[in-house]
Amino acid sequence: MIQRTATLVEVRSAEPQPERWQALLANAINTPEALLQEVGLNPTEWLEGAERGHRLFPVLVPKPYLQRIGYGDPQDPLLRQVLPLLEEGVTLPGYSPDPLEERSASPVRGLIRKYRSRALLMVTGQCAINCRYCFRRSFPYGDHSLSPQARQQVIDTLAADPALNEVILSGGDPLAVNDRLISQWLDAIAGVSHIRRLRIHSRLPVVIPQRVTPALLAALSGSRLKVVLVVHVNHPQEIDADFAAAMGQLKEAGVTLLNQSVILRGVNDHADTLEALSERLFEVGILPYYLHAFDPVQGAAHFDVADAKATTLMTELRTRLPGFLVPRLVRELPGRPSKTPLD
Ligand code: SF4
Repeated sequence: MIQRTATLVEVRSAEPQPERWQALLANAINTPEALLQEVGLNPTEWLEGAERGHRLFPVLVPKPYLQRIGYGDPQDPLLRQVLPLLEEGVTLPGYSPDPLEERSASPVRGLIRKYRSRALLMVTGQCAINCRYCFRRSFPYGDHSLSPQARQQVIDTLAADPALNEVILSGGDPLAVNDRLISQWLDAIAGVSHIRRLRIHSRLPVVIPQRVTPALLAALSGSRLKVVLVVHVNHPQEIDADFAAAMGQLKEAGVTLLNQSVILRGVNDHADTLEALSERLFEVGILPYYLHAFDPVQGAAHFDVADAKATTLMTELRTRLPGFLVPRLVRELPGRPSKTPLD
């Protein structure tokens, strides 16, 4: 009897323990009621709209991000990015569930091919936060989930096309998968001789900075591929000490750090905010890369900023910042061979 108990203990201790970031993700706020309570908003005023939006695209906010939201302020620029609203249920002409027409640009499960030298690989549909303005908020990720055989098919497709020199890991959020799987992807992609760069598009280190683990750093620094991490920060308030420390570790590991933002009404559509964002990004070792014009996704029209206003902001920004801190204002138009500059 004693022996059987000991065996059971051994088996249990052999089970992998979730990493801190995985526990934070598992405990993320995922109901409108909990979100309103955490941020101090009155349910009588906000719950009906939040529940309606939540039914269309569920609430997901991890605690480290929540801690950066001001209490009791419905206009907080971080809260606006995650709080579902009644407006999300409104259908307007010109707004589509698939504004970039990505569903028709997929040659093989998991892969999206828009540009000649780059391919986008969707390693997971999972995110660590659900951003209300996301252009993939209705994307059928289930159609792109990857079995081991499908992963091999992706690698075979990359290997068959020598015009490719860069793979972009996307999602969902590619860093939502565990470090073992990230390592396997890195090794498999590095095995394709004409691929030189790996780009990772991720918001995870912003919303859960603990995602930057020693194993991730080792995988990124140990690859023969040049690794570029493009984080997604929209507002300077998103940059806290934990995020800054995580970026410092990535930089030490030799990762090139860039940022992409989306211009969003009520979040960052002001020259002071965009200026402060570029300055803060540079302080933590990140260069501003793209400021994306809003993609007209159904359910998020209340974030839309007119192109005329966005270009005026960029003109103002150029008078305030050195050129290397001014992101490029671009729009992605379906079928075009590259992004389209707007200014
Ligand atoms: S993290 Fe990125 S992919 Fe996920 S919901 Fe936010 S914007 Fe969309």
